[in-house]
Amino acid sequence: MWQADAQSQVVVDLDAIRGNVRTLRSNTTAQVMAVVKGDGYGHGMVPAARAALSGGATWLGVCTLDEAFGLRDAGLGAPVLAWLWLPGQPVARAIAADVDLSVASLSQLTAVTAGAREAGRPARIHLKIDTGLSRSGAAAPEWPQLVEAAGKAQADGYAEVIGVWSHFACADAPGHETVDRQLAAFTDALDTAQRLGIEPQVRHLANSAATLTRPDTHFDLVRTGIAVYGLSPLDDPAVRATLRPAMTARARVLLTKRLPAGQGISYGHTYVTQRDSTVALVPLGYADGVPRHASSTGPMLLNGSRYTVAGRVCMDQFVVDVGDAEVSEGDEVILFGPGDRGEPTADDWADAVGTINYEIVTRFGSTRVPRVYR
Ligand code: PLP
Repeated sequence: MWQADAQSQVVVDLDAIRGNVRTLRSNTTAQVMAVVKGDGYGHGMVPAARAALSGGATWLGVCTLDEAFGLRDAGLGAPVLAWLWLPGQPVARAIAADVDLSVASLSQLTAVTAGAREAGRPARIHLKIDTGLSRSGAAAPEWPQLVEAAGKAQADGYAEVIGVWSHFACADAPGHETVDRQLAAFTDALDTAQRLGIEPQVRHLANSAATLTRPDTHFDLVRTGIAVYGLSPLDDPAVRATLRPAMTARARVLLTKRLPAGQGISYGHTYVTQRDSTVALVPLGYADGVPRHASSTGPMLLNGSRYTVAGRVCMDQFVVDVGDAEVSEGDEVILFGPGDRGEPTADDWADAVGTINYEIVTRFGSTRVPRVYR
């Protein structure tokens, strides 16, 4: 699997992505949107989208218009929703490319109307209500006004209200009281929309966590990101076991050498050998997605044994102290993967550096490390 000239790789298992989407579909009667923003959470937006669609996803979700254009340019024709855009951006081009646009404010609605005029066709829009995340979305008191304005744009032929949607704040903490509160607020918003004559084709609220734990939040469509890539937003090992992590991050030892006891390693000498030791140089650093917080904490598998980064992670490399173990140039170091071979997982890395699995894979896959698919 290693090409002669490769020193590090992110390996993406597209079958795992397909399988995870199948698993998600078997959990719900709703349609599945695969969220492929952030370069497919580091797995490669277009290959991840293709795999998710072949696993049964029927929608794609992205953040920016550029991401949506990237999907269209790659020839993907599935419905795509883009949810974070500024009115000055190429809205007419998005409408012409059949990209669905989230509309969270009157100024976005105005931009969509102008874009529709320019494109010569109605914009497909999803009205966003803020049910408690306090991020994007119309605040509850402004909701009727936004719905009415959207209804007028629809009557005038500038917009088609395809969706009404919102996003959870704490669905990854099952039983959190805000989940019920947000669900109730969403249901109220749907009632208000209906009273004002808006009947969307798709109502959507659930992310991966809610898709896996709260069937009553699924409505017509679930927007799943992290679970598509085989990682769980929940601590529950039973949920984890139903998914297969798609990303493996690995490198090859670039050189080894013997160091005496008492020798400081890497910048700042924060690690000092306790005895005469063999050290191995691993050609991955923070420019490749290895968090600098992994200094002295990041786990890995090397020749069947687990080790931890020795000292500071540098921009391009880190060192591992293997003691008296036999390690040679070219040996494989697996930072994380599905865990089958005893290697750490992205969850282990997240725990080691105090972050979430989302950040580990998204960072790792979006750097200069070559990505290969299988
Ligand atoms: N919906 C929106 C609006 C999002 O921003 C995201 C990701 O952050 C998702 C859905 C998918 O969330 P998750 O990856 O937790 O499934």
